[in-house]
Amino acid sequence: MQKKTQLIHGGIFGDETTGAVSTPIYQVSTYKQDGVGNFTYEYSRTGNPTRTALEALIADLEGGHAGFAFASGMAAISAVTQLFKSGDHLVITDDVYGGTYRLLTSILQRMNIEVTFVDTSNAALVRAAIRENTKAIYIETPTNPLLKVTNLQEMKEIAASHDLLFVVDNTFSTPYFQNPIALGADIVLHSATKYIGGHSDVVAGLLVVNSEQLKKDIHFIQNSVGAVLGPQDSWLLIRGIKTLGLRMDQTEKSTKALASFLNERSDVVSVYYPGLHTHPGHELHQKQATGFGGMISFDVGSKERAEQVVKQTRYFTLAESLGAVESLISIPAQMTHASIPRERRLELGITDGLVRISVGIEDTDDLIADLRQALDGSMS
Ligand SMILES: *Cc1c(COP(=O)(O)O)cnc(C)c1O
Repeated sequence: MQKKTQLIHGGIFGDETTGAVSTPIYQVSTYKQDGVGNFTYEYSRTGNPTRTALEALIADLEGGHAGFAFASGMAAISAVTQLFKSGDHLVITDDVYGGTYRLLTSILQRMNIEVTFVDTSNAALVRAAIRENTKAIYIETPTNPLLKVTNLQEMKEIAASHDLLFVVDNTFSTPYFQNPIALGADIVLHSATKYIGGHSDVVAGLLVVNSEQLKKDIHFIQNSVGAVLGPQDSWLLIRGIKTLGLRMDQTEKSTKALASFLNERSDVVSVYYPGLHTHPGHELHQKQATGFGGMISFDVGSKERAEQVVKQTRYFTLAESLGAVESLISIPAQMTHASIPRERRLELGITDGLVRISVGIEDTDDLIADLRQALDGSMS
């Protein structure tokens, strides 16, 4: 089954009892038992048919063994961290999502779980960071906001040789463009708030595991901790997923055009997009994914100019988040990455003049014209 067909026919299609082609919203908390202990569903924290349909669908799309839906991307990431115990050590991508960084450096620290942040696009650094008590490698590829690419196959080999869990946050590529389980990941997770939901109207997280043991472990955590996704939001994600392929294709078409446009401008200092041949991760990304996605970061030279640009765009809305039908624009240093000390930010390459865009599904020419007028009107 091709990806675009799987988006519609994967998981559980429709509803067996009524023939409804759309999975109904089972707005229910508890279920009648035919006798004590004789039931399919017991209680909606443990399981709900609408959530089950979504969980089966994401498992199919990622080519994994089982799927899980959480109340947010962070809830899914927290569930993964709850697999570990005091004294364990994790190796993490250095420019990991800000919320993940906060969770790992505050709450996990309190639980005495150690983390080392390394540039995972350099496998030698990952090998060097592994200790006796290391239990997992956790990566994002491409990363936010500099779109650095990590070699999935290489990480899998390192993880396998040290008996580590290999976890991938696949939010930026979506299951439409990249399937890390096929390349050896044990767990793949998403902030479904972004491309999977796709319409800026739901906060959710999805997680897929590749083994029966991890299925049991994650379900135990999901049910015990209770950060489950409700039936309405589960339904919205199923609905969003139906058009994921169409949206990603359109987004990527515009993003490629915008990256070329930005790259040709002499007043733009640098452009980060894995789809550009000049991007250091271009060839690797092309090998492990089928598309380059819809995120670009570019440096306009100064904090002041970046502020002028984001003020003047009309279709690019100034907002955090990404992956929706509407195009968004932000300044990482002042917004998503503001909690990172400036010195550390500069080390990572997140300069004051860096602007990040998430390209929506508006008309490509309108988007180019919009960026052009904002850049022209902000000459420094
Ligand atoms: C947004 C995001 C998260 C967190 O997800 P929420 O749904 O906001 O909790 C995690 N990872 C990445 C890459 C993200 O972009």
